[in-house]
Amino acid sequence: MRYREEFIVKPGAKLHLDQIDPAYKGRHESHDKAAPEIAASLEQMDRLQNLLYADGNQSLLVVLQALDAAGKDGVIRHLFTGMNPQGVRVVGFKQPSAEERAHDFLWRVHQNAPARGEVVIYNRSHYEDVLVVRVHELVPRKTWSRRYDLINDFERMLVANGTRILKFYLHISPSEQLDRFKQRLDDPQRQWKISESDYDERKLWPKYIEAYQDAIEHTSNDTAPWFVIPANHKWFRNLAIAEIISDTMDGMGLKLPSPRVDLAEIRKKYHAAADEHAPTKR
Ligand code: ATP
Ligand code: MG
Repeated sequence: MRYREEFIVKPGAKLHLDQIDPAYKGRHESHDKAAPEIAASLEQMDRLQNLLYADGNQSLLVVLQALDAAGKDGVIRHLFTGMNPQGVRVVGFKQPSAEERAHDFLWRVHQNAPARGEVVIYNRSHYEDVLVVRVHELVPRKTWSRRYDLINDFERMLVANGTRILKFYLHISPSEQLDRFKQRLDDPQRQWKISESDYDERKLWPKYIEAYQDAIEHTSNDTAPWFVIPANHKWFRNLAIAEIISDTMDGMGLKLPSPRVDLAEIRKKYHAAADEHAPTKR
């Protein structure tokens, strides 16, 4: 079975995150064994992104959501840096600015949606408005609970306009998160990433899990599915996501556009001379 089928959250299904093993390794035993498959998926993604760009009719939106240190940045570094930067954009969503707060919650998100031909990765997204906002009670329940429908409508509109949407929740265990915080603490290259608020947020783990379950259950559908990716093993997380993205792009029916000019005509006009590089005599 492909990971697309295995990890998709079926529309209408109940999600029990506590029953999904974050350390799952699927059909693979180790990174070494999986490495050739990861490389093949990355090659395929690169090839298909070129087609997407050339085709210019559709676009791809990848949403990454997770608790701190679950690997959003790692996914971006490992899976998208192989693509042509011309057609790929990463957008990070932090706490909204005063201007953003003065608009509806989808305003900043819509502005950054992919144009035709583009791949856009959201590092956090509009889902923060039903996750952190809910957990910290930044707006009343009646406000955030209405947002699921608004999100579904918004995403349906993007899809109708030619965008494929794939949403990934990177699923790690609390102990794996603590290990990763500790590694950051001990690594001079990454100490800047640690903040005490990361440790405070950890205490809210069960509330976040509840918020994630609700959000995913309400917004996983055929047009914009969610995937829960076991992410304790970084290589497995990369493997599964790369496979899902490349399978999806493969099914988008992308093709090179036909040339807009008469090739035979151009050949005759500019390349007929024996030495085409010879300067023309006046
Ligand atoms: P890192 O892995 O480097 O910590 P990060 O994505 O956690 O990356 P931070 O700058 O640490 O980046 O955190 C951004 C913060 O902004 C997160 O705590 C997130 O919950 C918060 N945020 C994002 N969107 C919203 C929103 N709509 N309302 C309130 N907070 C938000
Ligand atoms: Mg953070």
